[in-house]
Amino acid sequence: MLRLVLATHNQHKVEELRRILEPQLPGIEVLAYDGPEPVEDGATFTENALIKARAAAAHTGLPAIADDSGICVDVLGGSPGIFSARWAGPARDAGENLRLLLWQISDMGDEYRTAHFTCVAALATPDGTEHAVEGEWPGRILREESGAHGFGYDPIFQPDDCDVSAAEMDPEVKNATSHRARAFEKLIPLVRELGERSDR
Ligand code: IMP
Repeated sequence: MLRLVLATHNQHKVEELRRILEPQLPGIEVLAYDGPEPVEDGATFTENALIKARAAAAHTGLPAIADDSGICVDVLGGSPGIFSARWAGPARDAGENLRLLLWQISDMGDEYRTAHFTCVAALATPDGTEHAVEGEWPGRILREESGAHGFGYDPIFQPDDCDVSAAEMDPEVKNATSHRARAFEKLIPLVRELGERSDR
């Protein structure tokens, strides 16, 4: 039996990641983390995901997984990117963040509204083994908010091959197709391998 820590204090994320991981990794126990949160001073999603996973592994003595994610708008050179959660200031207000983004690109035609969500999922063990894998969810920024599900930038993001915003999608469908699902799908074989090694 492999015990893993999820390096996040966000209960919403713990539940979402448990739903992704536990059915695919029988015999694994996913624990929430309540230790200190490190300063996320990396310049990339990968660095920040590894900083969080490394800190939780060091604090608990257990393998830890973490993710870091955000929205990247092409015409803004990939911003908000790693600054997605605090784009409009330290209040980290999701409504203010998305309204600032809408205003910034309000003059841009449809061809310049392409964007993607990115998620990097990281695995770190107390003995120093580290992995990071990335998932992307391409789409475009809408002209106004639409939909009440989800969180963050979901009401203004329309995934490719979809005619509604991420906040109008059935949450189960969003969770199965999002950048987070895509990153964690890639992480699962690495976690499985770790479990097999710990059983030997
Ligand atoms: P973090 O991964 O918890 O640091 O999240 C970074 C920020 O990116 C969140 O606060 C949201 O603003 C944005 N974000 C990440 N994933 C999503 C998503 O699935 N939908 C909407 N916004 C997201």
